[in-house]
Amino acid sequence: MEVVKITPRGYCHGVVEAIRALRVASEEHPDEPVAMLGYLVHNEHVTREFADRGVRLVDAPSRLEALDQVDSGTVVLTAHGVSPEVKERALAKGLNVVDATCTDVIRTHDLVRRLSMDGYEIVYIGRRGHPEPEGVGGEAPEALHLVETLADVEGLELTGEKLAVTTQTTLSVWDTKAIIERLRERFPRIEVHNEICNATQERQQAAVEAAAACDVVVVVGSSRSSNTKRLVQVVQELAHRPAYLVDTAADLQEEWFSGARRVGVTSGASTPSQITRDVIRTLEQMAEPRPTSVTADPVPSTPGSGSPAEE
Ligand code: SF4
Repeated sequence: MEVVKITPRGYCHGVVEAIRALRVASEEHPDEPVAMLGYLVHNEHVTREFADRGVRLVDAPSRLEALDQVDSGTVVLTAHGVSPEVKERALAKGLNVVDATCTDVIRTHDLVRRLSMDGYEIVYIGRRGHPEPEGVGGEAPEALHLVETLADVEGLELTGEKLAVTTQTTLSVWDTKAIIERLRERFPRIEVHNEICNATQERQQAAVEAAAACDVVVVVGSSRSSNTKRLVQVVQELAHRPAYLVDTAADLQEEWFSGARRVGVTSGASTPSQITRDVIRTLEQMAEPRPTSVTADPVPSTPGSGSPAEE
């Protein structure tokens, strides 16, 4: 069995920068409490590493509710971004605010703010309950409609003169295609602004292309991570190959690879490389031919020379 390392995979620039920002914040303020508002990136291993350094994870259904639990010290805003209200409230509380919002997410915030100021009614394709739509929605609460499915599009009543649609950065082009097509049918004058980030798009395209030459694909990452789950989905739905999500090498199951000649490995944008390397190493060990047991000729024993097997 051959193990194919799909590239690009793993950490994107937004995650690398967010981790660096939190590291600097925790080192610069060793005597102050440092809190991260929600998961810095959607990966438990990264969160645990920071918890070990004394960084407190403050998680709640919304970023505003999480902020209610932080009264002093430094607060780190995650790569997913927050609404302007969260930022203003954090500053009003006198907190030292470290903003680790990914530059690609900032671009979507800027776009939505600009469209709203220009009088557009905005449709935003995203996942309910994910922090990124929560933050972007805060830029134009009166003008923005969050849609997740085709059924949501059917229920939309848009009356504005100017209409625009944009997207959460970590969706797939394939996810949004049908929704955008239906929006165009219902509202022919709607302007389309695709905000899916390059990192997400490149990883999904590479996974689908490589999967076509593999029998099975392993995606390494957390089930909390939107872009990681999408990788599994695009391999299954577009390359028509079985794809399995594993958090660590311990989740690998030998029966998934029975009869497989090529196994592809990729990972989400928030998965530490070390964990992906462990998964690759374990798969390579599974791929090695097992030693077959042979019966050795009996060795004449010398008195007093006990073999290890006899000890
Ligand atoms: S997945 Fe894209 S938007 Fe999200 S942090 Fe990475 S680069 Fe930024």
